[in-house]
Amino acid sequence: MERITKSFQSGEIQGVIAIDARRCKGCDTCKRHCATKAITGMFGAVHAIDTAKCINCGQCLVNCPFGAPYETVDAVEAVLSKLKDSDTTVVGIIAPAVRVAIGEEFGMHPGSLATLRMYGAMHKAGFKIFDNNYAADLTIMEEGTEFIHRVRAAVFGDEAPGHKSGPLPQFTSCCPAWVRYIELNYPALIPHLSSAKSPQQMAGAVAKTYGSAKVWNVKSANVYTVGIMPCTAKKFEASRPEFRSACAYQSKEQGASSGTPYPDIDAVLTTRDLARLLKKMGIDLAKSPETADDGILARYSGAGTIFGNTGGVMEAAVRTVHAVLTGKELEPLEFKPVRGLKGVKTASVTLMDTKFNKEATVNVAVVHGLRENITPVLDEILAGRSPYHFIEVMNCPGGCINGGGQPIPGGGSGWLGAMTPLLAWK
Ligand code: SF4
Ligand code: SF4
Ligand code: SF4
Repeated sequence: MERITKSFQSGEIQGVIAIDARRCKGCDTCKRHCATKAITGMFGAVHAIDTAKCINCGQCLVNCPFGAPYETVDAVEAVLSKLKDSDTTVVGIIAPAVRVAIGEEFGMHPGSLATLRMYGAMHKAGFKIFDNNYAADLTIMEEGTEFIHRVRAAVFGDEAPGHKSGPLPQFTSCCPAWVRYIELNYPALIPHLSSAKSPQQMAGAVAKTYGSAKVWNVKSANVYTVGIMPCTAKKFEASRPEFRSACAYQSKEQGASSGTPYPDIDAVLTTRDLARLLKKMGIDLAKSPETADDGILARYSGAGTIFGNTGGVMEAAVRTVHAVLTGKELEPLEFKPVRGLKGVKTASVTLMDTKFNKEATVNVAVVHGLRENITPVLDEILAGRSPYHFIEVMNCPGGCINGGGQPIPGGGSGWLGAMTPLLAWK
């Protein structure tokens, strides 16, 4: 690692995860799941988190056997109160990986796909639905187009006057834990990150501009956006001050006085948080009717759907880049070399650029599970020896499907804590 700097911007949440000293047994399990050595404490002693190093991923939380780590930010009551306010349009932005996990919280078989039941339950709670798979499609169009520009600049010297494309390899930027990791540990590589916002942040901006004006016909100030995420790091991401785009747009394009700048995403609920909110409202997801979506902001492609798995973003990007360059779908459409759970997956694909009538072979890599797999890939780039042009990185093992906001066996007690009456620990 290059260096670690303490750098919080004004308004950012300083530490999404903390450890409850009363529950911590000092067993060290959490350290084995932390990519940044942010957890301090000797074996047998109470552990703590150094927020200057923490990337908010929640892997310590979902893997602690005793349920000691907890989220410091809980928006359940705030969202409940907005749902009761008839002047507020509450928009639930549902991430891809939530729909296959939340059923577990309601006794459904693990892995059950609950998309339409979620729509039903959330409609009953009072949400409008914005399916984040749609925003994932937006993200991949942005990231894919940016990648084409970077390749054309590097390979064909094609650069618009006054424009400087970012360097290769291009990193994906949709995982906020990964973005934080680069910022804290490899700042020299920040220009390699795609400039595209994550799906959550694109969704928030779209909901408060296009959505408010064209879909719900309400003032954007009355739209309250709630990210429904498998991820604790998304809570940090939403607090970043650069994500005030809808407010900036209203001020600049429409001359509206912004007053206090408002965020694109007002609140983030993890999968666990949403389950808790629905239970508080007496809504059983497993018994909820399946309902239709809310129209255009919940329509999406297969590319958006696969975002939640490791390799999904890259597969979507390769398909999209191919379609944009050639006007034809990739054949076969499934890009299988980047599927599966291997820590680092690599592939090469030759793309015909119809603008130059030339072929370019691009090498891609997919990395998940930062702790074990990312350092050699980054060190290669720093040494100028990286063979890759595009790299997808997801912090959590397997991608968002195993995110820090997903259901935990044993619930709040941790997977072993649920069995503590049977164990003599300490
Ligand atoms: S895994 Fe849990 S109990 Fe063990 S040291 Fe970490 S926080 Fe404490
Ligand atoms: S949230 Fe992630 S980065 Fe922070 S202490 Fe836990 S495992 Fe480490
Ligand atoms: S892999 Fe997904 S769940 Fe995990 S930190 Fe990144 S965005 Fe969040």
